[in-house]
Amino acid sequence: MNRTPPADVRRILRREVGFGCPVCGNPYLTYHHFDPPWCEKEHHNPEGMIALCLEHHSKADVNTYTKEQLRDFKQNGIAHSKEVRGRFDWLRNDLHAVVGSLYCTNTLDIFTFNRKRVIWFNRDKENYFLLNVQIVSPSGEEMLLIEDNDWIVKGNPIDIESPPSGKLLNIKYCNDEYLRIEYKEVPSNQGGGSPLTVVEVRYKVGNLDFGPGYITAPGITITNVCLDRCDSGLFLWEQNGRWSIGIG
Ligand SMILES: [Zn+2]
Repeated sequence: MNRTPPADVRRILRREVGFGCPVCGNPYLTYHHFDPPWCEKEHHNPEGMIALCLEHHSKADVNTYTKEQLRDFKQNGIAHSKEVRGRFDWLRNDLHAVVGSLYCTNTLDIFTFNRKRVIWFNRDKENYFLLNVQIVSPSGEEMLLIEDNDWIVKGNPIDIESPPSGKLLNIKYCNDEYLRIEYKEVPSNQGGGSPLTVVEVRYKVGNLDFGPGYITAPGITITNVCLDRCDSGLFLWEQNGRWSIGIG
């Protein structure tokens, strides 16, 4: 049996603790088997498991917490949970952004909706690209805020996945709405060059759908737009139900 629990068990365990470690609130979660411990029996029964951060998982592994205390964390995790926040530690002088079907190289303003910036980068004094995202629901409720790589999840998500590697943030809301941000390194297309760092943003909120390799809005489909070192990327406006688009 593989020690990594299946996706549905991981989801139950994350939700139970309010998407943060029940000891310290850290959102970078791992999954601990305690009743019975993995060494006694291999299982993925969520009732005998709990989501903890790496530090408190290590402490739980040496029986720092009793089974009763862990059960108490499970029962009261949501009640004690705080705002879920973390940080992307990726700092690069060259960064590629892939947002739906928009491919941007070293571009600062990525996406603007109704004259408000939604996805953009600032550069710090070391010239690193720092990610900024401000996504609100069609009714104006904040969903995700990223300020210079620091992220805070808002609203009422049904799931938040953020593994300890710190490269992925995947937030799901009801009605199939989601926000997903992932940093990765990909091989350079010039053979032997150093790898390229990519941040990939996907989301579906209201009428806007930035999926893998496509962007759709009412009456609009965008495929494969490449921008290299531009000041600005994609603009969308909606006025009285009419949608317009601008690029670059
Ligand atoms: Zn912890």
